[in-house]
Amino acid sequence: MSVAVIIAAAGQGRRMKSAINKQYLNLSGRPVIAHTLSACIAADCFTQIIVVVAPGEEEIFRRDVVFPWFPARKFFLVPGGKERQDSVREGLAVLANNIEYVCIHDGARPLVQPSLFRRCLTVAREKGGAIAAVAVKDTIKMANPQGEVIKTLPRHKLWAVQTPQIFRRDWLELAYRRAYQEGIQATDDAALLEAAGYPIQIVSADYENIKITTPEDLLLAEAILRRRQDENRHRL
Ligand code: C5P
Repeated sequence: MSVAVIIAAAGQGRRMKSAINKQYLNLSGRPVIAHTLSACIAADCFTQIIVVVAPGEEEIFRRDVVFPWFPARKFFLVPGGKERQDSVREGLAVLANNIEYVCIHDGARPLVQPSLFRRCLTVAREKGGAIAAVAVKDTIKMANPQGEVIKTLPRHKLWAVQTPQIFRRDWLELAYRRAYQEGIQATDDAALLEAAGYPIQIVSADYENIKITTPEDLLLAEAILRRRQDENRHRL
């Protein structure tokens, strides 16, 4: 069974308020995206690794990520689109013929554990679609644009969705075709499959699998990595 991973790394990261794209910011001595790629490689289940980078940033990716950290690796580099969904579509366009399952992962989630990719893949093979998520800790309310509460959502049914998300290739391609024909836009890939009527299974994930979005996230990620390094040192 052949599985590809599409790493969506073409965002502008405006909420990071940094001059450089957040994927290239330094996290414990390596660019954020280098951590993400290391986890994908360590998962040892992908035959094709596609990295979607912002148009014009291909050279930065080669110079700051591939050359120093993965000189012997082959990545498929693709320029991304305006929204995340457009970037993933560019990645789908270069899938190798033999790929049967596709994993999509945010480049900005560098703390993902390799085992999470493998767990999602096991579930995707059984159910067709599997997404990493954690139970919501806060109470979530729906409000109108004026901030007036409309209703309180039942917390015990709510999940905060992450990546990786892994799907049968045929389902994913059909869902994407349908989304573009019908003008559906979503912030995660599973939503497009849901709209096409496919079942999706949640895989209970890890609160540490954060997305680097604002400067505070980078501080938190540094602290988590430090703790993991300490734990590894004590294990030796
Ligand atoms: O914007 P957000 O933080 O939700 O983006 C999630 C992931 O999608 C990030 O890794 C980002 O680089 C990627 N992305 C992309 N193309 C875009 C927008 C976001 O690949 N046009």
